[in-house]
Amino acid sequence: MDNCLFCRIAAGEIPSDRVYEDEKVLAFRDIHPLAPVHVLLIPKKHIGSLNEVNGENADDVKAVLEAVPKVAGSLGLKERGYRLISNCGEDGGQTVMHLHFHLLGGEKFPSDKLF
Ligand code: 5GP
Ligand code: ZN
Repeated sequence: MDNCLFCRIAAGEIPSDRVYEDEKVLAFRDIHPLAPVHVLLIPKKHIGSLNEVNGENADDVKAVLEAVPKVAGSLGLKERGYRLISNCGEDGGQTVMHLHFHLLGGEKFPSDKLF
C-alpha cells in the first residue's frame, strides 16, 4: 500500500508524534486534535476499514484493541475515561482509508452526541 498515508506513517516515511508502538500496532497523535488528548491507533498492516475486518486479520485488530488500555494508561486517561471511535466509509466520515481508532480524552464529552 505504497500510497496509503497511514502505511507510510507506520513505515516511518512520514513523521508522526508516536506515543506507543509494538510489533503490530502504532499509536500517534492526530495532527488536528479534537480533544485535549487525541491519538490514532492503527494496525501496522494495511486494513482499509472496519468493513475489511475478517478472520485473517483478526490478530492485528485484536492487537490494536489490546493496546487501547496501555495507551490510555500512559496518557493518564484511564481513571476518568475516554472515547474510542472508528469512522467507516463515507457516511461514517472516514477520510483515511486505513483502519484507525480515534482515542479521545482529557475532557468530558456530551452523552447526547457521539462526536
Ligand atoms: P478519519 O476522518 O478518517 O476518521 O480520521 C483521519 C484522521 O487522520 C483525522 O483526524 C486527521 O486529522 C488525521 N490525519 C490526517 N493526516 C494526518 C497526518 O499526516 N498525520 C497525523 N498525525 N494525523 C493525520
Ligand atoms: Zn495503509
